[in-house]
Amino acid sequence: MKPPLFEYIFPTTIEEAVAARAAHDYSAILAGGQSLIPTMNFRIANPGALIDISGIEALRGIRVEDGDVVIGAMARQRDVELDDAVHRANPLIREALQNVAHVPIRNRGTIVGSLAHADAAAEMPAVLLATGGRVIAHGPDGVRTVDADDLFQFHMTTSLAPEEIVTEARFPVLADNTGWAFLEFTRRHGDYAIAGVAALITLAADGSCTQAALAACGIGSRAVRLPESEASLVGRQLGEATIKAAAEAAKPAVTAPDDSHATTAFRQHVLGTVLTRAVGIARQRATERQGT
Ligand SMILES: Cc1cc2nc3c(=O)[nH]c(=O)nc-3n(C[C@H](O)[C@H](O)[C@H](O)COP(=O)(O)OP(=O)(O)OC[C@H]3O[C@@H](n4cnc5c(N)ncnc54)[C@H](O)[C@@H]3O)c2cc1C
Repeated sequence: MKPPLFEYIFPTTIEEAVAARAAHDYSAILAGGQSLIPTMNFRIANPGALIDISGIEALRGIRVEDGDVVIGAMARQRDVELDDAVHRANPLIREALQNVAHVPIRNRGTIVGSLAHADAAAEMPAVLLATGGRVIAHGPDGVRTVDADDLFQFHMTTSLAPEEIVTEARFPVLADNTGWAFLEFTRRHGDYAIAGVAALITLAADGSCTQAALAACGIGSRAVRLPESEASLVGRQLGEATIKAAAEAAKPAVTAPDDSHATTAFRQHVLGTVLTRAVGIARQRATERQGT
């Protein structure tokens, strides 16, 4: 299907883009177009104006700065995935990106577009939540920071105002004694997750867990942190029984009803399994990092 008619706007500065946003009742930012254009073709979205931000040079940056990996709104997913400085600073990002769709889609799609789109099964919202990241939004009233915990509200719904533009996402650099893992289960590689888990585990010198950050995607109406599972890991040695208890504690977080992809019970089982494996891998990597 073809999209409905729309006005096309091509700003070259953030200020022009913000002004264009304010001047239209129902506009949409066009970043990589990998989610927006399909939703328009399916007539799920019908914006009167598309503001194409690909001409704004200031939005292309990928850098490590002040303890954060900073990803500009027009940085393509594939460029971030291949960036070694990003990988050294926060290896969870590359591991999660390798699960996002396929290379041709990542060549066009942006991380910020994925965060703004907020698909409940998408990987990058879970990564932003687990790392305690945030986005910077520009609007007619100025610039504000939105923490990951306050950003995702519902499937394809965020707390961003309609006239705001996200200019960058910030993912904190991982501490030296923190291990990471992103794991998901899909029927085919590149599909959205039936359940996925982003895990960060920080260990003390004696091997006990001092910090655990776990976030899941695909299990409900939005990506979520798993505080009960996190609490069950902190202060303990991460043996088999402790990790199994964390997996059990995660299961009530599944709120997705039975659908054509999975029953609720199957999703709970998958969530428990990927969480168990992700925590095990993150623990192992934390141990290896301590030894280097
Ligand atoms: C076949 C296929 C499979 C896919 N599989 C996956 C998958 O497994 N996992 C996954 O996470 N994604 C998947 N995607 C989606 C893909 O990752 C998209 O690239 C991503 O979700 C959106 O990024 P984009 O840059 O293309 O955004 P766009 O499509 O351009 O925009 C998406 C939405 O975000 C808004 N937006 C974009 N940028 C901004 C901004 N700076 N400020 C405010 N609002 C903004 C847009 O207005 C729009 O509403 C898939 C896509 C396809 C076509």
